[in-house]
This record gives sequence, structure tokens and C-alpha cells, in this order.
Amino acid sequence: MAEKEASAAKKEPVIPVARPRVRGLDLLRDPLLNKGLAFTLEERQILGIHGLMPPAQLNQEQQVYTVMENFYRWQNDLDRYIYLMALQDRNEKLFYKVVSDHVELMMPVIYTPTVGLACLKYGLIYRKPRGLYITIKDKGHVADVLSNWPIDDVKAIVVTDGERILGLGDLGCYGMGIPVGKLSLYTGLAGIKPNHCLPIMLDVGTNNETLLKDPLYIGLRQKRAPGPKYDEFVDEFMSAVVARYGPSTLIQFEDFGNHNAFRFLEKYRKGYCTFNDDIQGTAAVAVAGILASLKITCKSLHQNVFLFQGAGEASIGIAKLLMMAMKESGMTETEALERIWMVDSRGLIVKNRPSGGVTGEKILFAQDSKPIDKLEDVIKEIKPTAIIGAAAVPGAFNEQVLKDMAANHERPIIFALSNPTSKAECTAEQAYQHTEGRCVFASGSPFKEVTYGGKKYCPGQGNNAYVFPGVALAVIACDIRVITEEIFLESAKLLADMVMTLLKVESTLPCLYLSYVTIVTGGYGDDLAEGRVYPPLSVSVVCYYNYWRIW
Ligand code: NAD
Repeated sequence: MAEKEASAAKKEPVIPVARPRVRGLDLLRDPLLNKGLAFTLEERQILGIHGLMPPAQLNQEQQVYTVMENFYRWQNDLDRYIYLMALQDRNEKLFYKVVSDHVELMMPVIYTPTVGLACLKYGLIYRKPRGLYITIKDKGHVADVLSNWPIDDVKAIVVTDGERILGLGDLGCYGMGIPVGKLSLYTGLAGIKPNHCLPIMLDVGTNNETLLKDPLYIGLRQKRAPGPKYDEFVDEFMSAVVARYGPSTLIQFEDFGNHNAFRFLEKYRKGYCTFNDDIQGTAAVAVAGILASLKITCKSLHQNVFLFQGAGEASIGIAKLLMMAMKESGMTETEALERIWMVDSRGLIVKNRPSGGVTGEKILFAQDSKPIDKLEDVIKEIKPTAIIGAAAVPGAFNEQVLKDMAANHERPIIFALSNPTSKAECTAEQAYQHTEGRCVFASGSPFKEVTYGGKKYCPGQGNNAYVFPGVALAVIACDIRVITEEIFLESAKLLADMVMTLLKVESTLPCLYLSYVTIVTGGYGDDLAEGRVYPPLSVSVVCYYNYWRIW
């Protein structure tokens, strides 16, 4: 008897299996919980899904293989985008596994340039709602709409009003593809849980006549709401977010029109946990590219003259951060400003410009110089060492521009940042060809490798994805309430340091780890020697995950 009692006492304790909150078909239909065919027999029985799927059990690796087989079957990237979005709607774990395992392949499909095409056709490809749509008609009830979102612990929101989608202009409600795509990268690249992320469209109408007549259009069919009403609506939205999710909820502004983007950044940056990726994220990525370029051109910042084609969110953001970097390197503000020139739709930005005044953020960069209308003539006059295109004017860096840059400098810096690819100032091939392979080139959208004069060149992609998922991760992990400019300058410097030469091993942990990855895989090579001023995208994922591990 005593023996029996002792053996009973030795038995493993029976842990009662908690009855899962969601079971059966509801579970299979929840993309956050669904694991496809990866459920074990025991899980299938406990969760009430036994028999609701084929009997085979396929682990995640096997399912990734199936996804990739399907991915390659499609003939174009828009179809691949639709397929991947359907996967995200079905099985988020698998979707993010695919994205993080195949970053270089997936990025151009779920992000620029394909996301631009997807936005243009958002009505056509719309299948299932993703994210929250709050319209100007909800003004006065924004908190009620926000309360319909079923998840309580949202930590990051990406919000747009669709007024300036990439370089494609006002796409109204079709712009929802952008917050959805950006937040996919929060998870796919930085490992932020998908249920902590919320994409939001503030639909205030559109001034795009084509869309207003488009039978497939899924947004409000009215012109954009006028100033004060619109401002009150955005104010109400910001307060509603804080009321429901707390003051440290990250709110990333995305693809707002130029006039609103700068205003909102100034208005909200001190009172809310917010940043504008088009201004600040772009700035960090572009400045990183410039800093890395200097390692190739062997010039210091003060030996450079920068000319921006475009003076909008991207250019002004880059110019301001560049100015910070210049000041940090010892220049005065005046010395820094002397080295930054801008051209907008009315020509060179100079004081007392006869073709129309200079207003807003541009005033800071207006030079004491004669007015010049054409970019080609500006280049002849000021002989910039670097030209940075962000005006969405395709072909602006024409043969003459590129040849003049090559004639003026041994290693000219050419950044064609406009997106999508169709809006790029020049292609990678044109840049290398017209500068005899001497330019340091980067673009906003990806370009394939170029062989010129028997040498291989890998154009870098100044992709904001190098920065915004990392900034979001840091902000959430460290509970940062106010996002300062210093964060973006530090990001830029770190990113520039990640561009590798095989022989350079820094002593910091992340760099050691990356060098280790480089040596073990032999995969990444000598970035700078190949002309690449950004590390391969897959390295940034390794780095984000490595940071998590260090923490
Ligand atoms: P924006 O609308 O704020 O600014 C556009 C600017 O271009 C304005 O200053 C306008 O005056 C100027 N412009 C228009 N026509 C011109 C012309 N013919 N000549 C000279 N300037 C002209 O837009 P933005 O947010 O600055 O974005 C511009 C482009 O940069 C877009 O294509 C966008 O996709 C791209 N972008 C790229 C990245 C990246 O590569 N990481 C990041 C952000 C934006």
C-alpha cells in the first residue's frame, strides 16, 4: 500500500490543458493563430481542428518550400504580391518566415516598387480588409471607430491619408497598401509582433479625378476635406490613439502631402511618440549612403557640395540631417549651408527668386546666388560633388548631367532616389555608362547588377527599410516617448558602418557578429569594392535579430 502511494506520488503531475480561447474553424481562420498543416495531431485534437485539414503534418520549413514553389510560378510581381497578401491573411507566421528567410527576393514585391503598382490597383486587388479605415465622416466619433479594433495591446501605428503615395501622387484610400507594407517590415525585418502593429487609413477624400470616376475605387468619393476640418480630424485621431493605447504608442506618419507632413511633424513631435518616415527615415538612409560614399571617394564631408533635385519631404529631410552631420564634423551652420544647394520645379532655390518666391522649409536653403532655371546649367555653375534626385521626375539625370558630373569629379556621387522605378532620375546602367563606371550610385528602387567595362557593379538601394523598423524596435523596446533627430543621425552613422569591407572588423558586438556571418557564409563580400554603399538587406535582418539577442 505504502509502495503504491509512493509510486503514485512519483508520477508526473497532470497539467490541465487550458481550453483555448479560439477553437475549430475560427482558429484556422485567424491568421495570427493559424499554422497551416504544421499543427501536430495532439494540437489538432485539443484545438478541435482534427479532420478539418488533410492528415499530413508539414513543418514550417516544408511549408516555406511550398510557398516558394508557388511564388516562382507567378509570371509578374503584382500577382506575387496578391499571392503573398493572401498568405498573410491566412497564416502570418508562415508569411513572416518567408519574408525574413528571403528578404532580398521579397522586399521588391511586398514593398517598393511593387507596392506602388499594388496601390494604383488597390480596388482591383482588394480581397479582405486589413487595418483600420477612419473617414472624415467619422469626425467626432474617431475613438468609437478605434475601439472597434479587436486588439488591446497595439504598440505601433503606421498612418497615411494617401495624399502623396511614393512618387505617384494622390491615391486617396488606395494608399492603404503603404501602411500595410511598412508594418509587414516591422515584423518581417525587426521581429515586432504583428498583433502589436496597426495600419490606419485616414480617408479624407481625394483630389484625384481619375479615382473619383474609377468604378473600382474603395474610398470616399469626395474631394479632400478642407484645412481646419482636416486638422481637427487629425488632432482627434492623435488623442484617440493615446486614449486607447497610451502615450508611448508609436505613430509613424507615411505619405502625407508635403504641406501637411512638415506641419504635423512639428506639431506633434514633442507631445506624441511620432516620426515621419518620408522626412526623417529617408534622411537617415540617404545620409548613411553619403557617409559610406565618402569611404569610396576618400573625401570628407566639408570637401563636398551637394545638389538636390527636388525640395520636398525627402530632400529637405536629408538636407537637414546632412547639416547636423556636417556640424557634428566641425563645420558651422553657415559653412554647412554653403555646401547644400537645391533645385525645385521653379529652378535653383535662391534668395529673391524672380520665378516665384521661396517659402516654408526651403527658405533655410535659399542661396545668395543668381537664379538658374535648368538643372544642367546649375551643375555647370556650381560643380556639385554629389547630386541627389528626389523630385519624381524620371530621366532628370540625363546623359549630359551624368557626363558633366564625371567631367567635374573623379568619383561623382549620384543618388537617384525617386520611387517607384519608373520615376527614377536615371537607371543604374545609365549612371555607370555615362560616368565611365566612376560614379558612386544608389537608388530608391532596386536595380540589378550592372557589368561595365568587364567590371561588376552592385547598385545600392537607399531603402528606408534599413532604418524605420530598427527605429520602431528601439522606440518600443526602450519605451521612448519623444523621438529626436539624434536617433536618426545615430542610425545613419551605424548603417554607414555596416557597409563592409571584408578586412574591416570593428570591435563592437554587432559588427563582430556581422563579420562572423560574412566569413562563415562567404556571402556578402566587399560591399564598397562592388560600389555598394548599403549592406545587403539580409544583413540588416541579421543585425536586428542580433540586437534582440544581445538585449
Ligand atoms: P514631395 O512631393 O514632398 O517633393 C517633390 C519635390 O520635387 C518638390 O519640392 C517639387 O517642387 C519638386 N519638383 C517637382 N517637379 C520638379 C522638377 N521638374 N524639377 C525639380 N524639382 C521638381 O515628394 P517627396 O516626399 O520629397 O518624394 C519625392 C520622391 O522621392 C518620390 O519619388 C519618393 O518616392 C522618393 N523618395 C525616396 C525615398 C528613398 O529612396 N528612400 C524616400 C522618400 C522619398
